[in-house]
Amino acid sequence: MLRPRRKRRAAPGRGGTRRALGLPGRRGSGGRRDGHQGRRLRRAERVRPCDPVPASARERLPQEIAVRAAVLSATGRIEIREVDRPQLGPDDVLIKTTHAGVCGSDLHAFKGKHPFRKPPVILGHELAGTVVECGGDARGFSPGDRVTVMPALACGTCRLCRMGRENICLNKRVPGVQGWLGVFAEYAVAKASVTFGIAPATTLELAVLAEPLAVGVHAVTRQAHIEPDGRVLVLGGGTIGILTALAARAAGAGDIVITDLFELNLGLARTLCGATAVHVGREGWEEHLAQGYPDKFDVTFLCSGAPATVGQATRLTRRGGRIVVTGLFLEPVPTDLTTVTLGELEVVGSQIYDHRDFRTALDWIEAGRFDFRKMVTHVFPLDQAQQALEVLANRTEDAVKILLDTSR
Ligand SMILES: [Zn+2]
Ligand SMILES: [Zn+2]
Repeated sequence: MLRPRRKRRAAPGRGGTRRALGLPGRRGSGGRRDGHQGRRLRRAERVRPCDPVPASARERLPQEIAVRAAVLSATGRIEIREVDRPQLGPDDVLIKTTHAGVCGSDLHAFKGKHPFRKPPVILGHELAGTVVECGGDARGFSPGDRVTVMPALACGTCRLCRMGRENICLNKRVPGVQGWLGVFAEYAVAKASVTFGIAPATTLELAVLAEPLAVGVHAVTRQAHIEPDGRVLVLGGGTIGILTALAARAAGAGDIVITDLFELNLGLARTLCGATAVHVGREGWEEHLAQGYPDKFDVTFLCSGAPATVGQATRLTRRGGRIVVTGLFLEPVPTDLTTVTLGELEVVGSQIYDHRDFRTALDWIEAGRFDFRKMVTHVFPLDQAQQALEVLANRTEDAVKILLDTSR
């Protein structure tokens, strides 16, 4: 595992950071002092430790503490700045983060291609850490608890929530937008309802993987309907692709074939779940695969968002088979719908996860269902978030899951 050497801390950011991020100004920053103090008083009345704990176990942060955060200030540019600590709502917990995962969606934002995460924004939604404070209505947690967070908040009242489909809630909130700060920062805030305790034997580093694993769990267990011994094709062997292959293995799939451009990723999929790995840089790989599987695949997962994989999916999935779209395609892709019609292919989307999927993912990590440690190839200190994103963006070196150590 590569652990880049820590660099000197970057200088604190410019004064406009808080306003630009939609945060309140710091105390003493001009004429907002009275209003700010008023908010503090009201808030102080609501705050209590989550569950009765001895006073010695409580930890409180000064309200005005500055928090180091990795801010995407412009496309391709991350700066380490100091921002106000996140505000704690009555049903929130405040978490001192230790690790944050760098995800494909962070990479999209870094490249300026994310549909709604635009600079200036604190990226990151995969985290683990320790609870330091709880709002007055946040039940079930105490300071010192080790936790991870399902970074999606459903409204609970819209038509889709009432249908039990919280993952596609019409009013869903996620970190990085609508006032919920991203987690590439020393502290993060989350509703207690989406916070999950971590078993004592599980490291915080591994618990970060619950989020991407839950994506694979949802795609496989809710959207794919894999029959026992079903033939599964995973197009795109990044973190989500590999974790989807693992979920397919857990679901009882027979042959699992995974494609990618990188030997490291392919080797991991082979090692972790016995998948057959196909390098898409090799000439004629698709014809070769089609010859090896004349009955084609029962279920195909589109995990990379690469336009070429759409045609591969329609050609390599059997009649009556299913194509599950997990990857984010940033532009419309021409699709051979004649093949879909003639073969009655089912094409279904798969969007993040819900509580059950997240619980399953965390259970698997805690139980050591697979050797998830092998997924983490890099851990960068928070100060080197720029380098972490560049490794993923430019593929200057082999990488699968990259974490930020937010305590350094
Ligand atoms: Zn993610
Ligand atoms: Zn809803």
